[in-house]
Parts: sequence; C-alpha cells; structure tokens
Amino acid sequence: MPARRKAANLGFRTKKSASMQNIKAHRRDEQIQQDNADVLVSMARFRESQSQEARDERNRRRKLEQRQARRYYEPHVEYYAHSKVDIGTMGKESPHCHALKFKNEAAGLCCASGKVQLPQIKTPPEPLHGLLISTNPDSIM
Ligand SMILES: [Zn+2]
Repeated sequence: MPARRKAANLGFRTKKSASMQNIKAHRRDEQIQQDNADVLVSMARFRESQSQEARDERNRRRKLEQRQARRYYEPHVEYYAHSKVDIGTMGKESPHCHALKFKNEAAGLCCASGKVQLPQIKTPPEPLHGLLISTNPDSIM
C-alpha cells in the first residue's frame, strides 16, 4: 500500500480559529471597543513587565522563526491540489456576454448580469489592421 500523501494545510483554519472568528463577527460595537481597550491594557502591562533586552531577544527570536517558517517546504505535499490553489478551469460561461469564468466567480462579475453591454469593436484603420491580422509584411507571427 502506498504511503498516504499529506494534504496541504494552507488555510490554517481550525475548529478553534473558526469558533473565535464566529464570536468576533457577532460582537456589538461596545464589545469591540471594550475588547480593543482590554488588549491595549494587557499589552502595556506585558511591555512594562519586560526589560528592553528581553523584548529585543523575543523580537530577534520571532524574526528568526518567521524566516525559518517561510523556508520550510515539503516536497511530498501536493500544494497544487489544495482547494485554495486549484481554481479549476474556465468552464463556466456567462449567458449574457459569453465570457468564460472560473466556477467560483460571481454571476455578475463580467457584465453585471447583462446590465453592461459594450459596443462592437470597429475595424481599426490601416496599417494597424494589417499588422493585427498579419497581412502586413512588417508584422511578425
Ligand atoms: Zn457577462
């Protein structure tokens, strides 16, 4: 049996992060202001409790960790197959303007569901037309 391939976790969405996002999304304005004030107070207390050297060391360590995290690449992970990377083909066609779109693009993205109609493009004057359709000897295919 072949080894099971590890799926790419590019979104970093966990049950806990989804729950926190849901709680944050349903807060009232007063709650948001109070939460922001609480964070400012707790950060100020935390900074007061640390020496400048400890802060510098923590920032240096964090920058190093971020740099190392960016370099980390697993060649056996199929990043190209992740749903956030693979957007599919342009298999969806607008019934109004016949533009080809990807499956997750909104219905009105191209022509606002038929509300926007562009005039037909007129044939450009010579020598531009000849250059565009490669009948001019100066045009290179
Ligand atoms: Zn359209």
